[in-house]
This record gives sequence, structure tokens and C-alpha cells, in this order.
Amino acid sequence: MCCIAAPNLAPYGSYMDNTTQERLMAAIAARRDDLVALTQDLIRIPTLNPPGLNYREICGYLAERLAKSGFKVDLVRAEGAPADSPKHPRWNIVARHEGPQPGECVHFNSHHDVVEVGHGWTVDPFGGEVKDGRVYGRGACDMKGGLAASIIAAEAFIATCPDYAGAVEISATADEESGGFGGVAYLAEKGWFDPDRVQHVIIPEPLNKDRICLGHRGVWWAEIETHGRIAHGSMPFLGDCAVRHMGAVIAEMEETLFPLLAGKHTAMPVVPEGAKQSTLNINSIHGGEAEQDPDYTGLPAPCVPDRCRIVIDRRFLIEEDLAEVKAEVAALMERVRARRPDFEYEIRDLFEVLPSMTDQDAPIVTTVARAIEQVLARSPDYVVSPGTYDQKHIDRIGRLKNCIAYGPGVLDLAHQPDEWVGIDDMVQSAQVMALSLGMLLSGAPDG
Ligand SMILES: [Zn+2]
Repeated sequence: MCCIAAPNLAPYGSYMDNTTQERLMAAIAARRDDLVALTQDLIRIPTLNPPGLNYREICGYLAERLAKSGFKVDLVRAEGAPADSPKHPRWNIVARHEGPQPGECVHFNSHHDVVEVGHGWTVDPFGGEVKDGRVYGRGACDMKGGLAASIIAAEAFIATCPDYAGAVEISATADEESGGFGGVAYLAEKGWFDPDRVQHVIIPEPLNKDRICLGHRGVWWAEIETHGRIAHGSMPFLGDCAVRHMGAVIAEMEETLFPLLAGKHTAMPVVPEGAKQSTLNINSIHGGEAEQDPDYTGLPAPCVPDRCRIVIDRRFLIEEDLAEVKAEVAALMERVRARRPDFEYEIRDLFEVLPSMTDQDAPIVTTVARAIEQVLARSPDYVVSPGTYDQKHIDRIGRLKNCIAYGPGVLDLAHQPDEWVGIDDMVQSAQVMALSLGMLLSGAPDG
């Protein structure tokens, strides 16, 4: 614990003198209990998505907190965005604090939604229990711990360096877990991430306190449907079984597509190791008669299935082209068609995201790297996320390239039962964030 109060400090160029750095690190350490309490409060507001519960409540809570710390607060509802409704409005908060001197703006963006609880918990998922140096609960690491760390970092920085140059922004946004359309995508469309008002973005997703995440792989989701003809199950020869057609499609994937994808490797530093190649998951399969309610006590009826659908989740690399990715699947379907009379199918696009990767020499990357070296006395690892997060909207819609994910927590724990975030990790990453603010907003000439 005491190692947190006295991190390994070395003189830092012209940005910040040693004494200020030490005061800043101590200011974060002194806020340790506040950081824990803030994380607990955020976990105790169950912002489950879907359907999008308590978004207004969590934004209201954050508005009150940040207004007290001197931020100007805007609550923004993503009216008309997917899933926005009077019952479940998509609320976002953007808070801005300006220093007395002109300068750049550093923005911390966290999503405030969490995924469903699932089974297997041994603690209350919305209790915010503290045990063995960890805070437990749904969203602890993904990403209410990161949100709390960024708030503490900003508050400590503002208190320690009141004469700073530029602006600090904190946003908490909706729906990241379901694509971010009612959150960052909406804000980006409305100009909140225009490069003339925001110059640096840190997304405190749980990538570990010593890693800088530069971006993510691409995504293509599609639904494939095979067609058949319904008939009595005792005379299948009078129908045409859509499930058998789909079986042929999956067999062809096993035979040709999976080996092809396993052979495609990327130079992106994707973690974990298995995601350094192209991947495809079959998310679901449905064919024939619909499943009945669990309380249905009868037998199924004998029918030849006339429809079968799968949803595929293809993750692609920065070296790949989306059109090629789609063409591979189209070619596979045509190979199956060539072998099967009456084979009919459709492919429907559901969702697509292009890969995103910030340059390793971008200012936000080099600054956070130096801050990690200062606080943790080690060089950071540079990683790319296997799945996407809101950086895609900041990059594609906001046209802002100077963006990374950096925050406390272990990525593997996200969406799992007994999710937790380490308190020391939160404190140290808050120190890294605060020091990064000091380096970017000191007003001193570039050194
Ligand atoms: Zn997340």
C-alpha cells in the first residue's frame, strides 16, 4: 500500500517540476478512500444494457459530483438513436473544466453501461463489496473502476495544478456494450469529439495499468439463412431440409474457411495471442420449429425445417479488406451450392466496424508511456484489443486519431461472474492519468 504513496519519480523534462509531480502523486494517494467509495457508488447503480437501465440516475450522480469539483456539465440524451425510448432514454454526460490559460483538451471517455449479471456469482453483483484489496461487482473492471480513476485523476490534477493550460473533459456514455450508437457515436456525430475542441482521448477500458491499447480489430457480423421446404417429418423426401443445407455450410467452413483464417496473421500487437489471426465465431444457430416455453409439456411436431439461420462473427485484421472478408464467405456458399441441388441461401449484413490503430508516436501514446515509466518504473506494453470499443466512433465519426484505451483492471474478468478491480491498480492508473494531464496541460514549451 505504501508503495503507492511514493512511486519512483525521476525529473521530468520541462513539463513538471519534481515537487509538483510528487504533490500530484500524493494527492491521488490521499484520495484512495474517495476512489473506492466512488467506484462502489457507481457499481450500486445497475446500468444494465440491454435494456439500458438507470442511465439518467448514473448521469445525475456524476453531474452532481463533477459540478461540485468545478466542472461545467452537459447531460445529452441521444434522442432518436437506436434503443432510445421514453422508457429507456439513452443519457450521456460530458463535463468540462477549463484552466486559466489556453491549451489543449484531454478527454477521458468511459461507458457507464454494464452487461447482464449471468450466473455463478458469490457476491452481490451490485453491492460494491470490498475484499482483499478489490472492489467487486458487475462493471467493476468494465469499466466503472476506470471511470472513477479518471475522475479522481482529474480532480487531483485540478487541485494540484490550478494554473494549468487547456481543458480536462470527462464523459460517461451509454450503450458501448451494444455498439455505442446511443453514446459515443451520437456525441461524435454532434461534434463533441471534433479535433478542434478535443485533442487527446483516453478511454479507461480495463487493459491493465501497464499497457497502452492502440486500437482494435475489425468486425463483420452477418446472418446466413438456408432455405428448404416444409413437409411431414415421416416423409422428408417430400420436403427439403434447411438444417441439412446449413450442415453442409458448416462442414465447408471446417474444411476450408477455418484453416484459411488460421493462416492469416497480423502485425498488430493483438492480445491475447490467439487473436493475432483472423477469427470467426458462429454466434447462434436456429432451424425448424421454434423452441417452446419451458413450461410446455408436449412433444414437438414432425416437420422438415424450411429455414435455418446462423449468425457469424468475423473479426478481421488491419491487413485485410472488408470486401475480401465478405467475398470469402460468398465464395464458400457458392462452393456448397455447386454440390447441392436446390441449395438456396441469403447473407444479410448485420454490423461492421473497420479496424482502428493509433500510431505509436501519437502524442497521447508517448505521453501516457512516459507517465507509466514514471509511476510504475517500467516500460508499457503496446496492445491491440481483440474486440472493438468506442474508439471506432471517435476515429471514424469524430475523425480524431489521437486516442487510446488505458485503464485499470484485468480484461479477462470483463463480463464474468465475480468481476473485480484492484484498488492499488486503480490508484496507480489514476496516477498515470494525472501525470499525463500534467505533461499535456502544463503550458510549458515542448521539451
Ligand atoms: Zn468496456
